[in-house]
Amino acid sequence: MREIKENGMHKDKIIIAIDGYSSSGKSTMARSLAAEIGYRYIDSGAMYRAVTLYAIRHNLITPDGSVDKLSLNNSLNDIKIDFKVTDGKQLTVLNGEIVEGEIRRMEVSNLVSIIAAIPEVRHDLVAKQQELGKEKGIVMDGRDIGTTVFPDAEMKIFVDASPETRATRRYKELSDKGIATTYEEVLANVVKRDHLDRTREESPLRCADDAIKIDNSNMTPVEQNNLLLDLFNKLTGSSDSNN
Ligand code: C5P
Repeated sequence: MREIKENGMHKDKIIIAIDGYSSSGKSTMARSLAAEIGYRYIDSGAMYRAVTLYAIRHNLITPDGSVDKLSLNNSLNDIKIDFKVTDGKQLTVLNGEIVEGEIRRMEVSNLVSIIAAIPEVRHDLVAKQQELGKEKGIVMDGRDIGTTVFPDAEMKIFVDASPETRATRRYKELSDKGIATTYEEVLANVVKRDHLDRTREESPLRCADDAIKIDNSNMTPVEQNNLLLDLFNKLTGSSDSNN
């Protein structure tokens, strides 16, 4: 950890919102920054994925995306999402079961933006996300964190990269995990999710007016980390408050 007060936590903790397109690398950036500055990291996309997995398992959504909205909305109180940290890795827990692997599958990726467009689902998850951030000291990534979940977040980042760059990264990530897919399928999924996320009525994906835009197409992970850390240090005055 660099440039952090001795107890690993700044006196005045802030909220850091990192939004952006699918597979833009925002989760990696958010996770690294959180680890570096001793903040909690929350992957809000995992929460939408967990609700989608629940809907699939309870036959509340068909493979072609028709949703039984009434039943799903009535089930929202039964969907408990938590995060568990094991060996420094954050795992998503759905009603007591670790579903980290399940929620990353293409079946979930193909349906999640449909579930995420349902207003009642969004209201429920936004309330949960706001609860998680009420003590501040949090880095949360997603699509509407700087616009809807934490419009007053002290640091807002909007990450972008070309669809091809994002699909290449995602394809590699999935292949490394042994998940069977093709580059074309991943690219189609990325483009489809971008479209659904941008055009939905309820808190669509957009860059907050006061967010800092970063196109990381040609940036290494180290460059991205350093950029965010510099911004954080400037905002919190950490560089010269190191004692
Ligand atoms: O971040 P990730 O790609 O895992 O998110 C999965 C999906 O969840 C997104 O494509 C989007 O439809 C939805 N999402 C959202 N709002 C968020 C986070 C994710 O609508 N804050």
